[in-house]
Parts: sequence; C-alpha cells; structure tokens
Amino acid sequence: MKTIGIIGGMSWESTIEYYRIINELVNKKLSGLHSAKLLIESYDFEDIEKLQSCENWEELTKILIHSAKKLEKAGADYIAIATNTMHLVAEEVQKNISIPIIHIAEAAANYIKDKNIGTVALFGTIYTMTKPFYKDKLKELGINVIIPDAQQQSTINIIIYDELCKGIIKETSREKIIDIMKDCINKGAKGVVLGCTELPNIIKNADIEIINTTEVHCREIVKRILD
Ligand code: GLU
Repeated sequence: MKTIGIIGGMSWESTIEYYRIINELVNKKLSGLHSAKLLIESYDFEDIEKLQSCENWEELTKILIHSAKKLEKAGADYIAIATNTMHLVAEEVQKNISIPIIHIAEAAANYIKDKNIGTVALFGTIYTMTKPFYKDKLKELGINVIIPDAQQQSTINIIIYDELCKGIIKETSREKIIDIMKDCINKGAKGVVLGCTELPNIIKNADIEIINTTEVHCREIVKRILD
C-alpha cells in the first residue's frame, strides 16, 4: 500500500470524513485489521479563511506548497488537498513537488462522465462557483455546468462558512439548499455536484442525483494507494 499525504483542516469537519471514509474503503478492500497509511497536515482554518476572504491566493499557495513538500519529505506517495476550494492553487503546488496530487475536480469530472450526466449544477464556496479553476475541469470532459444565481451563491456560501465549517447542521439550511437544487434541476441540471467537502454533512440524500465530491475523492485516493 502507498501512503497518502492529506492537506486538511479546511475545515476539520470534512477532514475527519476523509479519515473515516479512506480507512473504511481500505478495510473493505483488504479486510482483517487493514487501515490506510496516511499523513495529515491540518491547518488552523481561521488563518486560512482570513487569507481566502482577502483573496490572498499568493500566500495560500506558499502555505500549501510548504505542506505538500513536508508531506513528500515525510514519505507520502501522493498528495490530496481535502477541500474543493483550495484546488484553486493546486496547479502551482504540483509544480513544486515531485509526487502527484490526486485532484478532486478531476475525480468528480471522471465520475460524472462515467455516469453519463451531461449537465450538472455546481454548489460550493463562492470561489468554487465563480472562478474557472473547478468548472473548467468539468468542461474539459464535455460536461455542461450550471451555476446558482448570485443570491443562491450567497446563501450556499454563508451556510458553508457560518455553519458547516463549524459543525452546525440546521434543518432550515438543508431546506434552502434543497430548494436551490430543485431550481437548478428546473434549469436543466441532471445532477448536483456537492463541490464543497462539508456539503455532504448536511445533504446525506435527496431525490436528486448527487455527486458527493468528498466520497468520490476518497474513492480515487484509495484506488491509487492500493493500485
Ligand atoms: N471544504 C470546503 C470546500 O470543499 C470549503 C472550505 C474551504 O474554503 O476550503 O471547498
């Protein structure tokens, strides 16, 4: 088994899910007492969010490069950035290390393609929904992407940072997200990408086709470390 180096704590509410899902999948595959070989570099998310909100991507790039190098030196064979948003700097990080980054949007795009879903709605932080880095990965595989409108983006973004990243799960927020999902389905989406690793903590299941990026990413990680 290879070792996965996880860059996490963005937020820890989803990193804990990575730890659980990766170990469960490894054990399912290898049985017995098997569990994953992994290293986690976990940030103080308050620091990260401050840099995100003032759009200091340069500093964030430096921070992630430092961690990726540290994990590589510690013996990781692959890197996984356990958040969709920070893939904004993934390309730059990749240039500075010699082990591969297992990219969450590439894993999601392959999954959507395999499922033959032609058009998806993309839900995530304001950065993931509005910047090209994520939707371009989907478009590269011929997937059409619908983005929620400005009001809906703001609702989703507030729920992510003010609630989900703090472990707060509200039924009223779940209903708001479901309503936005339904609206996107009416606009032609055949599935909804939960493009924020905390969103599956509030949307466990729905009548709508859901792409759980935390799970899809973990499946890809396990496939690669056991290959
Ligand atoms: N974990 C979230 C994501 O998947 C949001 C937190 C962050 O800004 O990294 O995008």
